[in-house]
Amino acid sequence: MSGKDVLLHACCAPCAEYPVFDLMGQDIATEVLYFNPNIHPKFEFERRREQLVKLSSIDGFTCHFSDAFRIDDWLSHKWEGQYASRCLMCYDIRMDHVAKFAKENGYQRFSTSLLVSPYQNHEAIIASAERASEKYGIPFFYVDWRPHFREGQNMAREHGLYRQKYCGCIFSLDDSEFKEKIIASFPENWEAQR
Ligand code: SF4
Repeated sequence: MSGKDVLLHACCAPCAEYPVFDLMGQDIATEVLYFNPNIHPKFEFERRREQLVKLSSIDGFTCHFSDAFRIDDWLSHKWEGQYASRCLMCYDIRMDHVAKFAKENGYQRFSTSLLVSPYQNHEAIIASAERASEKYGIPFFYVDWRPHFREGQNMAREHGLYRQKYCGCIFSLDDSEFKEKIIASFPENWEAQR
């Protein structure tokens, strides 16, 4: 069921799988927003975006896309001095935009697929979403989807979705144990695109 009750922020298609399934399965009118300026390089940003287009077609939901790409916020270490880590800045940038978009476009509440991942800082995501909720005057719809993470990943596999092996920013690519394999999947000029 598509519609304007919940605006679900999708960090990527595999993580959106279970939350969308859960919300739509309860007949909660749901639309999705892809807003992830943290995903670098540009090739990867577009690759993950394409997977959400594919998922929206499979599941039949309306998806909105914001093509902001803010690598400078990460490369300039903008978070230092303001946040305890780059991830806290990353959550704030995304939750702020999602809450604002939800408020301005007539949704009743907002949520995020980040809540499905056991690899994210769950409490920090909640805190960030609650700040955005208060700032824009729109409820944050909290669900702990983490127990269904594997189920969602299996659904993504069955749908043939690309499942990335790093969180998103250029630093998480550096940290990934799969870094060489990931870079091998990029076009040759990938560094020029960042
Ligand atoms: S590791 Fe993930 S959550 Fe943290 S800053 Fe990078 S993309 Fe954002």
